[in-house]
Amino acid sequence: MSNKVHLGHTARKRFGQNFLTDGNVINRIVGAIAPDNDHVMVEIGPGLAALTEPVAEAIDKLTVVELDKDLVERLKVHPTLKDKLEIHQGDALQFDFSKLLVPGKKLKVFGNLPYNISTPLMFHLFEYAEQIENMHFMLQKEVVLRLSAAPGSKAYGRLTVMAQYFCQVVPVLEVPPGCFTPPPKVDSAVVRLVPYETKPFPCQDVSVLRHLCSTAFNMRRKTLRNNLKQLLSDSDFEALGVDASRRPEEISVEQYVAMANLLCDKQK
Ligand code: SAM
Repeated sequence: MSNKVHLGHTARKRFGQNFLTDGNVINRIVGAIAPDNDHVMVEIGPGLAALTEPVAEAIDKLTVVELDKDLVERLKVHPTLKDKLEIHQGDALQFDFSKLLVPGKKLKVFGNLPYNISTPLMFHLFEYAEQIENMHFMLQKEVVLRLSAAPGSKAYGRLTVMAQYFCQVVPVLEVPPGCFTPPPKVDSAVVRLVPYETKPFPCQDVSVLRHLCSTAFNMRRKTLRNNLKQLLSDSDFEALGVDASRRPEEISVEQYVAMANLLCDKQK
């Protein structure tokens, strides 16, 4: 049988379908997720239910968002899952996660994500950070390195600053390609993202921070002064104690927030 067929389903590349098949990895991820009934548990991309089944077993109800209509049909008739699942067929990138909230409960979101949409999906989920208790995702290892990078490293970029602005980022586990069917071409890793209740560096307007980061990292080889010359002057950098001759990846999250807040003050 082709290694693209798993449980009678042919994996669809365009939906980033690499199904988890390693029982040990599945157990470790479910342990990290720690399913409970005190939160609204939400899975993105349940697929053939490798994580869905053990998580649903531990709780009363699980909400899932799945794009592939064939997989949704399978979930609807799944003997042990059909009564526990609230199924939303659609694109997680367009999904309004706030509509899942119930009074007094935050969301716990998890999934072995389709790698082709994982970065935009992270940005989409950060919009709901205040409504989320925590998130556990299997991602391309390179994306986990970007999420958790320290200033000065190659992996540090716009995704890092936005992720670490909203969340504490903790890499959990590395997962080799052989743990999936079909195996992905890249290494994978699981990350835990915990949105801050109280942000260490609060920003007056997150859309300003987003715009600042996009502009700053537009050309990574240029200095901050060069990339941000339309937004900040030398005296602004001086007032903030930020060395404008540095490259964008050498600037801390705290410094990006300070620059964004100065821009907000100037707009008042
Ligand atoms: N959770 C399963 C597992 O671990 O074996 C499947 C993981 S597979 C990497 C990604 C899953 O996300 C697939 O079921 C795929 O159909 C689904 N998917 C792909 N794009 C999606 C999207 N935009 N929104 C929601 N689900 C999506």
